[in-house]
Amino acid sequence: MKKNLLSILSIFSIVSSVAQTNDDAPKLSEVWDPVPAIVKPGKTAQDAPSDAIVLFSGKDLSAWQNSDKKPAEWIVGDGEMTVKKGTGMIYTKQAFGDCQLHIEWRAPAEVVGESQGRGNSGIFLMGVYELQVLDNFNNRTYSNGQAGSIYKQLIPLANACREPGEWQTYDVIFTAPRFSDNGRLQSAARITVIHNGVLVQNNATLWGATEYIGIPQYKKHGLKEPISLQDHGNPVSYRNIWIREL
Ligand code: MG
Repeated sequence: MKKNLLSILSIFSIVSSVAQTNDDAPKLSEVWDPVPAIVKPGKTAQDAPSDAIVLFSGKDLSAWQNSDKKPAEWIVGDGEMTVKKGTGMIYTKQAFGDCQLHIEWRAPAEVVGESQGRGNSGIFLMGVYELQVLDNFNNRTYSNGQAGSIYKQLIPLANACREPGEWQTYDVIFTAPRFSDNGRLQSAARITVIHNGVLVQNNATLWGATEYIGIPQYKKHGLKEPISLQDHGNPVSYRNIWIREL
């Protein structure tokens, strides 16, 4: 009888220790720190979340300047800004490196020109890596120069262009390149681009700074640099530009 009792107790003890181990097992792989910061999302995914820096809300170009650090001269009206031909690129006053960027653009409704001459502008991350803006709705051009390309480097995975005159979105996740003190490239820039909800660049590796002629090369620059928008002579418009530093 005593032997039986001991045996029952021993079985109970083994079973309970296994149960306890099983109860604790999931906790061993739980990580509670760090706690992700609370970010209040915008009303829709296109609206700036609470921690975003708004670069253009439709009112003024106070976050922008021209290459001489003088006031940007592009045209502002109706909640949008439009390239003023011949006034040159505009640059953010603030510098950015790793970031999440939301930007909306519109090629002119009136179709003028073809190939690279139709609704051409561009978003230059760090001032030198061009994400092409171009009206490629029924407009063929070289594939590594069309909308959603990293100009003359990376062909987009799809052509997601809307019709000219319609607003389009780019959502960009950009990782800045890193350089050593002697100017050597340590890690290349990477980019993910979603065009009108369609993935067109998937964590793609950039070859270097955008070149019109020749092979792109990396040249050392800061961890953060201004973002610029291109005046290619076509009246392309922008609105609702915000950025989150990563
Ligand atoms: Mg361009």
